Amino acid sequence: MTVGWGLIGASTIAREWVIGAIRATGGEVVSVMSSSAERARRYAGENSIANFTSEIAELLSNPHIHAVYISTTNELHRDHAIAAASAGKHILCEKPLALSIEDAMAMAAAASSAGVILATNHHLRNSAAHAAIRKAVASGKIGRPLSARVFHAGYLPTHLQGWRLDKPSAGGGAIFDLTVHDVDALRYVLGRDPIEVVAFAQSAGMTSEGLEDAVMGVIRFEDGIIAQFHDGFTTKFAETGLEVHGTEGSLVGRNIMTQRPVGTVLLRNGDGERQLNVDGGNLYEGVLRAFHSAMKNGSPSATAADGIWSLATALAVKKAVATGEAVKVETGL
Ligand code: NDP
Repeated sequence: MTVGWGLIGASTIAREWVIGAIRATGGEVVSVMSSSAERARRYAGENSIANFTSEIAELLSNPHIHAVYISTTNELHRDHAIAAASAGKHILCEKPLALSIEDAMAMAAAASSAGVILATNHHLRNSAAHAAIRKAVASGKIGRPLSARVFHAGYLPTHLQGWRLDKPSAGGGAIFDLTVHDVDALRYVLGRDPIEVVAFAQSAGMTSEGLEDAVMGVIRFEDGIIAQFHDGFTTKFAETGLEVHGTEGSLVGRNIMTQRPVGTVLLRNGDGERQLNVDGGNLYEGVLRAFHSAMKNGSPSATAADGIWSLATALAVKKAVATGEAVKVETGL
């Protein structure tokens, strides 16, 4: 069966990555919904989508749509997901799932009672580099993991310099945009959950309305592992990376906190140094492939619970920034 998709949100991420990934994995983009009928019409035309609407009820009543991809701004994810679940549609939702744990839990409950999938688009789980780090950690190549570092500060492209910079009500700022991905990547590679955070943020001129354009902090994970993170929109010449250090070795990933299947991972331990194989495909196609197979049986690459963990940790980081104190991660799960 060809999976029919409805796009909730005429977004950049759908245009740049997800529409292509749906099509490359055998799905069909049936319709797009925008809050503006004119934008919906234009977007459908530009992206060769047969149908468009400005009414979510119209999109959700289309029997050819089996799943929806929600990529509206963050404050809208909750209502859009609950409406989709009530209509019996499977859901791939962008991160952060919502702006509060209560809202994210309500989304998960709606999906669960409707018997539909609610997946979170943490695409980095589908990076061959991240998978190689996870496998090396799990198989003991670095001994007992002690610490990790994530560098995920770059420069926000000009075409994305909108609500992220000046709209707190839409969930703007670097923490909701980037820290959620770091947390999920760390949970994935370490196989442990976060417990507590400390953090400082910065507003260096790009953001307004009290939003941060960069943040640094430390997350304490299970088994005493400490992980440092740096996220930001403001650094034009930085490079991304993810490292895990253990009692018997280190894993050094470079240029791997990205949307593209690029970068390197070096394993250094008592046997010497070697580059791990990180050949892999398009990350978003990985998300869609896993989602399509989860519709038959199994689990998407990042579940609703994974989205709740990353959101809860981002909320703890926000609170740590606001209070200057260490804050426990509370998921409600
Ligand atoms: P966009 O700003 O491109 O789109 C978000 C919403 O903005 C759209 O749904 C659209 O509303 C509205 N919009 C778009 N263009 C215009 C316009 N010209 N005038 C007025 N409104 C407009 O956001 P992104 O694609 O960057 O992000 C969307 C979601 O995806 C967010 O939740 C973000 O966190 C997430 N994201 C995830 C990534 C990942 O790799 N997992 C990467 C990038 C983003 P309408 O639909 O009503 O037209």
